[in-house]
Amino acid sequence: MPTPAPDPAPDHAPDHAPARRAAPLAVVDPATGTVFDEAPDQGPDVLDAVVDRARRAWHGWRADPDARTTALRSAADAVEAAGDDLARLLTREQGKPLAESHAEVARTAARLRYFAGLAPRTRRITDGRPVRSEVRWRPLGPVAAIVPWNFPLQLASAKFAPALAAGNTMVLKPSPFTPLATRLLGSVLATALPEDVLTVVTGREPLGARLAAHPGIRHVTFTGSVPTGRAVARAAAASLARVTLELGGNDAAVLLDDVEVDRIADRLFWAAFRNCGQVCMAVKRVYAPARLHAQVVEALTERAKAVAVGPGLDPGTRLGPVANAPQLARVEQITRRALADGARAAAGGHRLDGPGCFFAPTILTDVPPDSPVVTEEQFGPVLPVLPYRSLDEAVDAANGTGFGLGGSVWGTDLDRAEAVADRLECGTAWVNHHAELSLAQPFAGDKDSGVGVAGGPWGLYGNLRPFVVHRPRGE
Ligand code: NAD
Repeated sequence: MPTPAPDPAPDHAPDHAPARRAAPLAVVDPATGTVFDEAPDQGPDVLDAVVDRARRAWHGWRADPDARTTALRSAADAVEAAGDDLARLLTREQGKPLAESHAEVARTAARLRYFAGLAPRTRRITDGRPVRSEVRWRPLGPVAAIVPWNFPLQLASAKFAPALAAGNTMVLKPSPFTPLATRLLGSVLATALPEDVLTVVTGREPLGARLAAHPGIRHVTFTGSVPTGRAVARAAAASLARVTLELGGNDAAVLLDDVEVDRIADRLFWAAFRNCGQVCMAVKRVYAPARLHAQVVEALTERAKAVAVGPGLDPGTRLGPVANAPQLARVEQITRRALADGARAAAGGHRLDGPGCFFAPTILTDVPPDSPVVTEEQFGPVLPVLPYRSLDEAVDAANGTGFGLGGSVWGTDLDRAEAVADRLECGTAWVNHHAELSLAQPFAGDKDSGVGVAGGPWGLYGNLRPFVVHRPRGE
């Protein structure tokens, strides 16, 4: 589901109408519900200038791979050196516990280092004819990155690290809910990268739509919801820019009849509730054998009731607030609908009193399989646990939505669990855990969950185009 803009856009002027100063974006701390800072709302004139400068900077940046490697490694060092400031700001605007913000910063630096060390491979192709084709790789030009609010830095780095390593420049647009840590990251990166190689732009819609449609952009790499992804693909069609879309998920965890519930309950709980459930590849539905259903509900309920919920800056907090007020309203609405459909909240089921966007960690049982909390993406601290009678029924249910991001299978016999995982219609399937990703692996969604591939060498090639030199052999 696309998230509405944080506050009404005061500027409805059509593209390229005379510039009018728009009110800045007010940034809210979701732990208190109060505005604590602001970011500029940049219009089409700023965007045009930024894309133009990114194109000019591209010519120097693409020319020297060794200089790129050095600059990206220095950028990783600079991110680590600014880690405390980045992490605190991220927690303030996004809500997640400080330790998770630090982990996000560390992942950002690690990704820069990983891609700094990757280079595309030139290949020679001979096929018996007296010619030789050499396949080389060329960057695309200025790349636009548009990212959501759940992992602002980590998801931005998943875009800029491969794009810059490949020799492209980048214009990066964070969510209007979380512009601040990304702006700070932009200034930190600017200490290590040549001017205009990466520029952060901030603002309300239609900034993202303008960026996706901008004729100077050669690749739009987007992470967000399915409906916005479709809008981005339509916008980029105007300039025939390449599109990479990492979209929503509704991952199922299928528990097998030999699962040891007590052994996996912690892992399963955190696979659903980390970052308050606001993870594209969180476990969003659990399917348990009917015989074990009550035991699974009990184990998860115990954890949901015990987990420390509070402001992300409090050292004891394990679960922060929902990241913003519209998302809290969405989580509340989908939960109420499930309860009205006949579900029962074994834990939670409601907002928490007091300021801020807090929602009680919720375990739902007796949920009708067609309730939106099962068929759609709840993206919050709410988990339905559904019983199944036959494995085929569980696999069909797991595969029964339009999403296809990830999925997992949990059991004692690993070979059997892997065979079931192989039947899931998704990009990544895990056995006995969920949402663990290596920087070196491809990341791609099946069905509505995405187009194109990020991660590992695939992410690098996603930012390159083949260029073939064809010449006679032996002359
Ligand atoms: P969203 O789609 O509402 O917004 C994502 C970004 O797009 C934001 O920066 C937003 O300002 C911008 N945007 C909004 N309208 C636009 C338009 N018409 N054209 C261009 N850009 C536009 O998503 P969200 O609510 O910020 O994030 C949550 C969603 O992101 C969930 O669906 C989640 O599953 C998904 N997500 C996917 C992945 C993945 O890797 N597959 C990772 C994280 C989050």
